Amino acid sequence: MTPLAERVARLIEASGPIGVADYMMLCLFDPAYGYYTTREPFGAGGDFTTAPEISQMFGELIGVWTYQTWQSAGKPDPIVIAEIGPGRGTLMKDLLRTLGKLDPSLAHSARFALVETSPRLTEIQKQTLGRAEAQITWRTSIETIPPHPLILVGNELFDALPIRQYVKTPAGWRERVVGLDKNGGLALMAGPGAPDEALLPPDAVTAPEGAIVELAPARTALMETIGHRLAGHGGAALFIDYGHAEPGIGDTLQALRRHEYDDVLAHPGEADLTAHVDFAALAAVARSQGLTTSVTTQGDFLLRMGLLERAGALGASGDETLRDKLRSEVERLAGPGATGGMGELFKVLEITALRPWIRPEGKPKIRH
Ligand code: SAH
Repeated sequence: MTPLAERVARLIEASGPIGVADYMMLCLFDPAYGYYTTREPFGAGGDFTTAPEISQMFGELIGVWTYQTWQSAGKPDPIVIAEIGPGRGTLMKDLLRTLGKLDPSLAHSARFALVETSPRLTEIQKQTLGRAEAQITWRTSIETIPPHPLILVGNELFDALPIRQYVKTPAGWRERVVGLDKNGGLALMAGPGAPDEALLPPDAVTAPEGAIVELAPARTALMETIGHRLAGHGGAALFIDYGHAEPGIGDTLQALRRHEYDDVLAHPGEADLTAHVDFAALAAVARSQGLTTSVTTQGDFLLRMGLLERAGALGASGDETLRDKLRSEVERLAGPGATGGMGELFKVLEITALRPWIRPEGKPKIRH
């Protein structure tokens, strides 16, 4: 048993089973044993590899999106360009370099903000971005970003926020909880709690016994905060994650440890724990705040932003080995799942406030 498994077992002994969301919270963010608090998850030596760590082109093309979004909004100034959940800071490094090439004065005048809850990852981001000339500040929540129009990006953020699960029993839908089996080990079981049935997907009614559905109040709450911010001060956001464009039945909770799937209860605190993102649900939250949304696949988005052209330009200055490497990066980022690509499973949610973003505040100032 991992030290966190011991602690979870004692907690359950003392006060009863805990919901899947509480279990995820402990596994990921426990201050002493949580996965993000204690471990280096990213890259070949870690547990999983994210798109910015696969290729510099990913962050560069998000830089292109940022620039285009800023331009089409009428070049608001001041502007805050922020990333939430920046991991090692790689995406922001590539984005900054790209903005510096596209428009040096924007790269110089924009205020950059990194929103990160993990103090350990904040330190790593500071190392990655230490030599950047841009004005960068770190925040622990969206609420403290200065009140200006905002362009916000986030890669693989929402999948790390906890979900609740419900299982269909003969008595109806019941919350799925982590309890103890007769040997004292952690086990998933049906608890007494029932969901608000109005929130379940349409096919929940005909789902067979044992079926699982997932709801994510923590994700909804974060999206409400972000939407409120965008609706109030103007702006746009881009979220990339793996998940489904339509809601549905199914258990997507998964653990990843050293690049392999693991039992979700086997190594609490030592494996990454995530669940697919319900993009329709997130988009609906944003639309309820008067924002415009669109969902597309990562493959289509990156091609639209110029992935092939960028790979061609980078390849032109190198040898065949570099071109092979770039081809395999393109395949991983934008190719279909059948060939190991992220292009279809990963989706991109784009959220935009109504234009123009800049609302007149008080009387215009006259310059003498
Ligand atoms: N975007 C990075 C890292 C993804 S992992 C990449 O693609 O490589 C998820 C990141 O989100 C981690 O940096 C984690 O510490 C951070 N995180 C989790 N919950 C958060 C929250 N509520 N606010 C800000 N950051 C959060």
